[in-house]
Amino acid sequence: MAEADQPHGAGDVRQKYATEIAELLWMATEHRRVLHDRTDYLYMLQAILGFEGVPIWCENLEGLVIGEYEVSCPTCETTLFIVISGDEHFSTSGDHALEDDVAKTPLHSADPKSLRGIGRRLYEVALTDGRHDVAAAMTYLFGNARCTDCGTGFCVADQVGRA
Ligand SMILES: [Zn+2]
Repeated sequence: MAEADQPHGAGDVRQKYATEIAELLWMATEHRRVLHDRTDYLYMLQAILGFEGVPIWCENLEGLVIGEYEVSCPTCETTLFIVISGDEHFSTSGDHALEDDVAKTPLHSADPKSLRGIGRRLYEVALTDGRHDVAAAMTYLFGNARCTDCGTGFCVADQVGRA
């Protein structure tokens, strides 16, 4: 259900299995609150968005599990890695996994009060569940990055949505 590109059409599946999907959504929501493992929690949150039919984030929250998103700069189209992992929050066009001296620019987290829509919701859900680490990650995911090549600033979530 989550993947945007489906041969049978996601709409048909949602109609045909509406009862089962509603049940799965209820179970996932109940189960989410008792998950201790961060990875399990993020996948469950992503599954919930899948059952609800929330586009983009029903298949892209797992970037927070890996700790990295790959996006394009909206101006120069350079491929950028957005790292949101532990205490590391930066963007780079270099191969940061293999090289130490790549150019990095720090991410700017969004003020939670300025978050809107799905960003606001995911932040608040994580906070309500006592997942402060996940809530903090959301402020970076829905915050801003700067291209290391041309200096353009952009919203990380917007570029994830365009990828
Ligand atoms: Zn750029």
